[in-house]
Amino acid sequence: MRYQQTISQSISCSGVGLHTGQRVTLTMNPAPPDTGVVFIRHHAEGAVSLAAAISNLVPTELCTALSVNGTQIKTVEHVLAALAGLEVDNVYVELDGGEVPAMDGSSSAFVKLIQAAGVVPQNRRRPYLKIMQPIEVREGGRRVIIEPSATPRITCSVEYDHPMIQAQAYVYEWSASAFEREIADARTFAFLNEVEGLWARGLAKGGSLENTIVLSEQGVLNESGLRFQNEFVRHKVLDLIGDLALLGVPFIGHLIADRSGHALHTKLVEKILEQTDSWVLLNTEEDLAVAHKSAPLVHAHAASLQVSPAF
Ligand code: ZN
Repeated sequence: MRYQQTISQSISCSGVGLHTGQRVTLTMNPAPPDTGVVFIRHHAEGAVSLAAAISNLVPTELCTALSVNGTQIKTVEHVLAALAGLEVDNVYVELDGGEVPAMDGSSSAFVKLIQAAGVVPQNRRRPYLKIMQPIEVREGGRRVIIEPSATPRITCSVEYDHPMIQAQAYVYEWSASAFEREIADARTFAFLNEVEGLWARGLAKGGSLENTIVLSEQGVLNESGLRFQNEFVRHKVLDLIGDLALLGVPFIGHLIADRSGHALHTKLVEKILEQTDSWVLLNTEEDLAVAHKSAPLVHAHAASLQVSPAF
């Protein structure tokens, strides 16, 4: 039996938002069981809560963003990935600006924060969404599908017409230690010709070689090079984990992504939640009630078995 988890104390970091270029302070605070991840945006006029739920998703071009009553928080995916990856269920993520700080473009800083705060179990079972039938979203040659599986896992493949990437594939078996070791440090990436276009349109204002791998036609512009030879596909796994966190509960299934992006990931989340006959929710309070009701039947059955030799 797995229990829900939160962090044991408050902890903060500051950095620049990738798209807004604004300096933001992010503070994570412990939250009670069944809270989920809730962002709290502080304004001069007060505070607005934005649950990390697909119902609060707003379409954006380059990141995953949430909005409630006109208050928006951009680029939530890397901090959501860190929380889901380390299996932290309940936390308040407070921000004094409209975008999660990019830090180094990966989930690394958030993982270090969560570990410094400490992860603690709570007195409530963790629900899981267990996939029973495949659910798929396709767009042209791109697709994401989630299939039944005994354990949560991800198979991800990317393909770019660039000598540093070309075709990369990654198989990820879900665990907090695997997330920290294999996925958390993989940074976001962009192509130089696209970056120039984004800057011309006033986007990616906070983007730099400090928080993005930038690829020119010849290679990588970042002097320190890559952290993994297949850092690109590892970052796609990171984005998948962050985007799928918008389900609100961890999944048990095999997530297969082929050349997908944020828009396709979030469409899959929507489709999963619509297709309620394709999954079951495990470990809910209802399950517990059913288990308690069925317990006397099990005893009665055992008793009948015990007396059977007498016949
Ligand atoms: Zn990303």
